[in-house]
Amino acid sequence: MTTNKDWNYHPELPLADPSIFSRPLSARFLAGWLARNWLTLSERVILLLIALAAYSFLYPPLEAAQDFTLGWIVQTWLVNLGLVIAIAGGLHWYFHMEKKQGKTLKFDHREQAKSNRLFDFSNQVHDNMFWSLTSGVAQLTAFQVVTMWLMANGYVPTITFASSPVWFVLALILLPIWSAFHFYWVHRLLHVPFLYKHVHSLHHRNVNIGPWSGFSMHPVEHFLYLSSLCIHWIVASHPIHVIFHVLYLGPGAAMTHTGYEDLLIKDKRRLALGTFYHQLHHRYYECNYGNQEMPWDRWFGTFHDGTGESTARTRTRKKRMYSKMDT
Ligand SMILES: [Zn+2]
Ligand SMILES: [Zn+2]
Repeated sequence: MTTNKDWNYHPELPLADPSIFSRPLSARFLAGWLARNWLTLSERVILLLIALAAYSFLYPPLEAAQDFTLGWIVQTWLVNLGLVIAIAGGLHWYFHMEKKQGKTLKFDHREQAKSNRLFDFSNQVHDNMFWSLTSGVAQLTAFQVVTMWLMANGYVPTITFASSPVWFVLALILLPIWSAFHFYWVHRLLHVPFLYKHVHSLHHRNVNIGPWSGFSMHPVEHFLYLSSLCIHWIVASHPIHVIFHVLYLGPGAAMTHTGYEDLLIKDKRRLALGTFYHQLHHRYYECNYGNQEMPWDRWFGTFHDGTGESTARTRTRKKRMYSKMDT
């Protein structure tokens, strides 16, 4: 049974643990994990392919980034704007406007909110588009531009595929893991009641999420979330890594917030999109701060496995957090 009164669809519960950190690591599990993420048409593979194409044909070359001149900065901003619109807009169009997949594998029973004063413009999608396309794209571009400038001037270590082929490939595999690690801690900070109230509640207007919800954040949250990119200021990388990372954080957030578990093609699950794990976070708040790949929630007791007991535990935790604030 994968439906109940709370959910139109949910995966098998309690949720399984796909983290590579939570078990004595076996070569077999690691090979399976690599194959799932990198040898299928996964979110990561798609974003890497887009990154390679965008690096070759869309973004300005690194040499252009030696000075802060308007041309290449505007070009970078336009590419980012276009990519966020294409990916978030494309998913929204496919799943929520044309409803190509109906309600199959859709987590929430409900549609995106209209005529709801909670949202700016009283419309969830317009609210989400506004925050994604203004502060979101601007800050994404700002972090990228500064990083490119640092690279172009040799202020940070860079590599090429020829100089370090192993690290080049390894860094692509490690970047999503780094960003999951960074996201967990930033996200925990954002759930400190004061910051939650003034900053993070904007992202949490979206209990029932859609593709445009992913990158819809308060400007302070965008800043903290995107600081993940500062890793390129310390660890040697190539502009392709930066672009992959930019896409992972920006347009990639649309993919993980689609509101559907997978994209079906001819009734076969072809592309993993949203996770029930984060969907639970949007409904119950004080649980599942990280994503499935990081073990933190399990280690620190904030894991919600989708069952009623977890919901009860989460509600108690929330009460405790907020009662502290009032006294
Ligand atoms: Zn979210
Ligand atoms: Zn949150």
